[in-house]
Amino acid sequence: MPPVCCYVRGSMTSRYLDEVRRRTVVFDGAMGTSIQARKLKKEDFLEGKEGWNESLVLTRPDVIAGIHESFLAAGCDALETNTFGGSRLKLGEYGHGTADDVHRFNFAAAQLARKCADKFTTPEHPRFVAGSVGPSGMLPSTDDPELGKITFDELADLYAEQAKPLIEGGCDLLLIETSQDMLEVKAAIVGFRKCFANIGRNVPIQAQITLDVTQRMLLGTDIGAAMTTLEALAVDVIGLNCSTGPREMRDPVRFLCENSRLPISVIPNAGIPENRDGQAVYPETPADFSRQMAEFVEEFGTNIVGGCCGTTPEHMKAVIEAIRRVTPKQRQLG
Ligand SMILES: [Zn+2]
Repeated sequence: MPPVCCYVRGSMTSRYLDEVRRRTVVFDGAMGTSIQARKLKKEDFLEGKEGWNESLVLTRPDVIAGIHESFLAAGCDALETNTFGGSRLKLGEYGHGTADDVHRFNFAAAQLARKCADKFTTPEHPRFVAGSVGPSGMLPSTDDPELGKITFDELADLYAEQAKPLIEGGCDLLLIETSQDMLEVKAAIVGFRKCFANIGRNVPIQAQITLDVTQRMLLGTDIGAAMTTLEALAVDVIGLNCSTGPREMRDPVRFLCENSRLPISVIPNAGIPENRDGQAVYPETPADFSRQMAEFVEEFGTNIVGGCCGTTPEHMKAVIEAIRRVTPKQRQLG
């Protein structure tokens, strides 16, 4: 059945999607926990705002490039830009929420990731850059007086604004990730398409939602409802990321692979974090993590695998080795 939408999937050429159809594509591991592990000082962040990870592309591009390259050296095929909190609302929390700021941060991050990816690209092994777009911090589906206080169109414009510099900076695809509210995902996709119309260029859209241990999104949406919505919106890839480890994702991953004809991405944390002496520790070792990821590829035909919070270059190296040893289940892609 064709998607119920004016947008026609498959109307663009994309080396990334060609590669996804041909083999299992491996994304990088965590950006946030990799930054934490480097124990940066307050002065490393813009205006001394400790923990403002997005600012590091301007103040310490060497640190971000080092993280990107650590994953490329491990053999990963795709990088995510350091722009998870790069929307006007998120940058605004640090006093930098103008249109110019959105352009400056996102463009710099995209160019930096592009440069790293190109350094490792060979004709046989292309490396891709995904423009990472995280939640706005609002929950448009709720009637919470603060979190619900944004219209659909305002939210879509926010995402269009972030998408433009990501594409112009050289991203191969846009990745809306860690999504907890389906209405926000919808606004992001509408915003991305507004941007495509504006700049006269399309890139693939990969939409990843986050499920908790009860296998529901924050506002209660289950995997079946999320899949139906995303297919109707004609995204190019559907996936899951963050919140839990691969173990808790097994059933929803199987569901997606069995019921969707789109490529499926799975980017879990290295397990559910444990609090050890006030520190979040991600318990899954590279061996645990990679074994389960290889099972997803072999048993279900997952097309894209990667690592979210707590995953290191060692985790991703183990994933690459583990999937090399299995024969991916062939799924019929639409
Ligand atoms: Zn995560």
